[in-house]
Amino acid sequence: MKLQSIFLVILSVQIAAAQQQDQSLQIVDLSQMQLRLLNQHRNTDSAIRSKIFSDSIFKPHQKFWEGYIGPEPAFLSWMNREGITYLDFLNKRNQAINGEELLLQFNKVKQEMQKLTGYKPIGKWYIIFCHGATNLGSLGSGEMLIDLSHEDNSTMENIISYFPHELTHQIMSSINKNKDSTALGTIIGEGFAVYMNQLYWGKKYSLAQNLGYTEQELEQCKAQHEIVNRFLKENGYSAKDTTINKFRARYYKINAQLPGAIGYYIGYKIISAYVKKYGEDSWKDVFLKSPEEIYKLSTF
Ligand SMILES: [Zn+2]
Repeated sequence: MKLQSIFLVILSVQIAAAQQQDQSLQIVDLSQMQLRLLNQHRNTDSAIRSKIFSDSIFKPHQKFWEGYIGPEPAFLSWMNREGITYLDFLNKRNQAINGEELLLQFNKVKQEMQKLTGYKPIGKWYIIFCHGATNLGSLGSGEMLIDLSHEDNSTMENIISYFPHELTHQIMSSINKNKDSTALGTIIGEGFAVYMNQLYWGKKYSLAQNLGYTEQELEQCKAQHEIVNRFLKENGYSAKDTTINKFRARYYKINAQLPGAIGYYIGYKIISAYVKKYGEDSWKDVFLKSPEEIYKLSTF
């Protein structure tokens, strides 16, 4: 009797723990269903096929798809055109990535990030095939995605190498209550994610790799630091989307030698200056302080 009740207590604690884990981080893998239906309906009439794609894939996750590719016609157009046309490529890509191993590695990084930071990453991860606007990215409000179509996702290692970066975003979005809608919010957010990616992997990847730059591009950032600094001073407090994009987007470059997404580099430099000033564990402050406070205190 006594043993049985102990067993029941243990069981209910385990169930509660499992439920809590589910709530903290959910993985929604739509990629396998997409491929299965694309293969199955390769030659089906497009109107019939579209209804199947819509009912099985789009509608149950409408908010997510709208946030990434846009309204239903955009999603169906991608599935019917690129999805069917490049199906052999997508099948091959899928074989190059071992989904089970990917999830295993994901959970490992998640647990180690929790140990490193003291915080639980919260949110949802979607694994999909789509137009490849990003390799791994955030849709805001804790939703992340891995678009397996993206050229950078050709190997498992490439995908795994950015897990600490993305998990940092997820911790930030649930822990840091200071919402900053200026460019500085993006700069600190991305720079900190790069910093944490580097802290997590140590010497495994170079800073340029953590930034998604070439080594030459990183050298140019250092060589042209006055131009980069001026760009920050002139635009860092702007809340205009077009200006914020100049710090975030890979396609925008201040000049031909500098890399896109220059905000990642600037943010990384601000966090590094802050840690240099306040001690080696002071990166933990970034989870709690506002981007503006971090920027000002860093005296970068
Ligand atoms: Zn990021």
